[in-house]
Amino acid sequence: MNSSISSERIRYLNENKVNPNGKFVLYCMISARRVKWNFGLKYAVEMARKLEKPLLVVESLNIDHKWSSDRIHNFVINGMLNNRSDFEDTSVTYVPFVETKRNQGKGILKKLSALSSMVVIDDFPTYFPRIVANNVAAKLPILSVAIDSNGILPMNLAGKECLTAHSFRRFMHKNVLNFIESEIYGEKLPIMTDLKKLSQKELKVIADEVEWEFTPLEWLWRAAQIDDIGISALSSIDINHSVFPVTSAIGGSSNAFIRMSEFVDEKLSKYSENRNKPSEKATSGLSPWLHFGHISSHEIVFQILSKEKWDPSLIDESRIGSRAGWWGLSESSEGFLDQLITWRELGFNFANFRSDHTDWTSIPKWAQDSLIKHSLDFKEETYSFEELENSKTSDPIWNAAQRQLVSEGIIQNYLRMLWGKKILQWAPDAKTAMEWMIKLNDKWALDGRDPNSYTGIFWVLGRHDRAWFERPIFGKVRYMTSNSTKKKYKLDKYLEIYG
Ligand SMILES: Cc1cc2nc3c(=O)[nH]c(=O)nc-3n(C[C@H](O)[C@H](O)[C@H](O)COP(=O)(O)OP(=O)(O)OC[C@H]3O[C@@H](n4cnc5c(N)ncnc54)[C@H](O)[C@@H]3O)c2cc1C
Repeated sequence: MNSSISSERIRYLNENKVNPNGKFVLYCMISARRVKWNFGLKYAVEMARKLEKPLLVVESLNIDHKWSSDRIHNFVINGMLNNRSDFEDTSVTYVPFVETKRNQGKGILKKLSALSSMVVIDDFPTYFPRIVANNVAAKLPILSVAIDSNGILPMNLAGKECLTAHSFRRFMHKNVLNFIESEIYGEKLPIMTDLKKLSQKELKVIADEVEWEFTPLEWLWRAAQIDDIGISALSSIDINHSVFPVTSAIGGSSNAFIRMSEFVDEKLSKYSENRNKPSEKATSGLSPWLHFGHISSHEIVFQILSKEKWDPSLIDESRIGSRAGWWGLSESSEGFLDQLITWRELGFNFANFRSDHTDWTSIPKWAQDSLIKHSLDFKEETYSFEELENSKTSDPIWNAAQRQLVSEGIIQNYLRMLWGKKILQWAPDAKTAMEWMIKLNDKWALDGRDPNSYTGIFWVLGRHDRAWFERPIFGKVRYMTSNSTKKKYKLDKYLEIYG
C-alpha cells in the first residue's frame, strides 16, 4: 500500500493480505518508543486513515528477555508515561503494556492480530525486537510490516554491510541529502486528530476477547519512581533486581529533549576539544534515550543544523568521505555528527546485514588469526568474571570505569575503549573476553543490547579497525594502556567520583 515513508524504511515481513474486517490497525511500538520523528507511527497512521480504521498503539515491555532488570524496566516505564501524555489529545489509542507475570504477554500479538486489519512493528536490527519482528510478527496471518526509524539513513539502503567507518562515511555523504529535506525537515509528527478513536468500551471488549490484562496505571506510576516505591513495585516481577534503577538518567522523550537542548546550547561548541576527557562530562550522554528510541537522531540533527543555520549550499563536495569539512559546519558539530551518524549507523548497518554481529566470526580474519595465535601468551595478571564485575583489579582507572557502569549504566567513551582493551588483556583468552564484555555491557549498561554495544565491543577485538604492530596478547589488534591514558588526560575528578 502506498505511503509517504521512504521505501527503504519499509520491510514487508510477509505477503499476507490486509483483513478488511479488522477492528483496528495495530502498531507494535517495541524500539522507537516515541511520537516524534517516528516513521512506524507515521506509517501506521497513514494505513489507519486509508483503511478507515482506528489505530491501536501497544507499547510493550516483556520480562522474558535475557537482560530484563529493574534498570531497564524503570527507564522504559518512565518513557511509557511520557508517551501516554503525548498521545492524550490525539485520536490514537495508546496502551502501555508491561508484563507483570511471566508469560502474561505470550501470544498477545498473535491474538490481537486476529482482530486487526494489519500489523506495523518497529524494525530494529538486534536483540529482542528483531526476534519479535522476524519470528513472531512475520508469522501472523495478516499483512505485517516492519518500519525502520533508527537512523538518518535507512538500514537497508546500503544493500550490504560496510566494514569500515571510512566506507560508511563516503556512502553517507553520497546519500544523506536525499533524506535531509524530506525526513529531518519534514513532518516531525503525523496528524493524529482525524482518526476514529477506540472508545474505552470498545477497548475493553477487545481486551476481554483476547484475555489481555491491562497494566494498571497506578502500578506504572509507582514502578516509574526511582526510590523505594519504585523498587517495591518492581519487586513482584520476575526480573533481575540486583541491576537497580539509575538515578542520574530518567527515561522518556521529555527528559531526552531537555538533555539534548542543554548539550546543544552549552556543550556542543567544545565537543571536539573535550569529548575524550574523562573528567569533563563533555558529551551529550544521550545514548540510553537513543537506544530505547525515546529520542530520534533526526531530532538531534535538526537542532544542530538549525542552530548553525545550515543549508546544503555549505557542503564541500571535495571533502566527500572525510571526517571533517564535508558539512561546512563548525568543527565540533562535524565531530559530533560523525559519531551520531557515521559511527552509530555503521553499527545499525552491520547488525542489519550480519546475523553474526554478536559472534566471533564477525571479527576480520586477520584479527581472529592474530588473537588465536597469541591466545597462549603469558599474562602477568588475570581476573575472573566476578572480580571484574566487582571492580576488584589492581588498576584504579579500570575499577572506576566499571563502577561508573554499575552505578550509572554508562562509561565515558574514551574509558569505555580502555575498559574493553583491558578485559581483552586480562581474560583467559580473546573469545572469553568477548563473552565477558557482552555480558557486563548488556547487563549493566542502559544503552546496552544495541547495535553500538557490539560495534564498540567488537572494535576492541579489531572489527572496523586496521592491523597494528604485533605485540603480546593483542597480536595485531590495537592496544591501549592505563598509563598512557593517565598521561593523556587529567583523571583526578573522574577518580574522585568513581574511584
Ligand atoms: C567497549 C565499548 C562498548 C560500547 N557499548 C555501547 C553501547 O552499549 N551502546 C552505545 O550506544 N554505545 C556504545 N559504545 C559506543 C560509545 O562509547 C557510546 O555510544 C558513547 O560513549 C555514548 O555516550 P554519549 O551519548 O555521551 O555520546 P556522544 O559523544 O554524545 O555521541 C552521540 C551519540 O553518537 C553515538 N556514538 C558516539 N560514539 C560512538 C561510538 N564510538 N560508536 C558508535 N556510536 C557512537 C551514540 O549513539 C551517542 O549517543 C561502546 C564503545 C565501546 C568501546
